[in-house]
Amino acid sequence: KTFDDLGLAEPILKAVSAEGYKNPTPIQAEAIPALLAGRDIVGIAQTGTGKTASFVLPLLHQISRQRRRRAPRMCSALILSPTRELAAQIVENVKNYSKFTKISVALIVGGVRPGSQIKMLNAGVDIVVATPGRLLDHMSTGAIILAKTQSIVIDEADQMLDLGFLPDIRKIMDRLPRIRQTALLSATMPAQIRKLADDFLSNPAEITV
Ligand code: AMP
Repeated sequence: KTFDDLGLAEPILKAVSAEGYKNPTPIQAEAIPALLAGRDIVGIAQTGTGKTASFVLPLLHQISRQRRRRAPRMCSALILSPTRELAAQIVENVKNYSKFTKISVALIVGGVRPGSQIKMLNAGVDIVVATPGRLLDHMSTGAIILAKTQSIVIDEADQMLDLGFLPDIRKIMDRLPRIRQTALLSATMPAQIRKLADDFLSNPAEITV
C-alpha cells in the first residue's frame, strides 16, 4: 500500500512526500482508512511506529475539507498529550504535515504564562494540542469552548493513567459533543484504559501493531 491509496487530500500527500515518507507504516495503513471512514479507533502502539501521523493526517484531511472554521474560542480538533514535551512534538508534526494548507495549531500546556495562549484561542484555531491541566484551566475561564469540537485524540493513554490524569480526561470528555470522532492511543491496555475506551468510544476499530 502507498500513501496515494489512502484517499488523503493533495496538500497533505505533498507534505508526506516532502518528509520523505514512501509507504505508510502498519498502524498508518490501518488507522488512516478507519479514521477517514469516520470510525473511532483504539490504537495499541509504541512510540516509533508512526502513530502520530496515523491520527494527525486524517485530522488534517477532514479539517481541510471544512468550509467554515476558526470560530473564536472553538477548535475543530483536540489532541491530548500527557506531557509538555510530547505535546510540543505533536505540534511540530502537525506543522510539518500541514505546511501546504492554512490549518492552524495551538500548543496549550502548563509552565508558561497563559496570556499568549488566551490570545490564540480567542482568535480561533483549527487544532489544539494540550496537556489536560492547562486545558481545564482555559475551559474553566471560558477561554476555550469544546462545544464544536468534532475530533478528539487521547495520545499515550497509559502515561495519562500513570501521571494521574484520568479524572481530568473524563472531565474534558464530558464537555465534548456526543457526536464526534474519538481516537485513543496507548502502548499498553491496563483495565482502567480499557474502561476509559468503553465509556467514551463508540464501536472502535481496534488496531494493534
Ligand atoms: P511516532 O511513532 O509518531 O513517534 O513516529 C516515529 C518517527 O517515524 C517519526 O520521526 C516520524 O517522522 C517517522 N515516520 C512516521 N511515519 C513514517 C512513514 N510512513 N515513513 C517513514 N517515516 C515515518
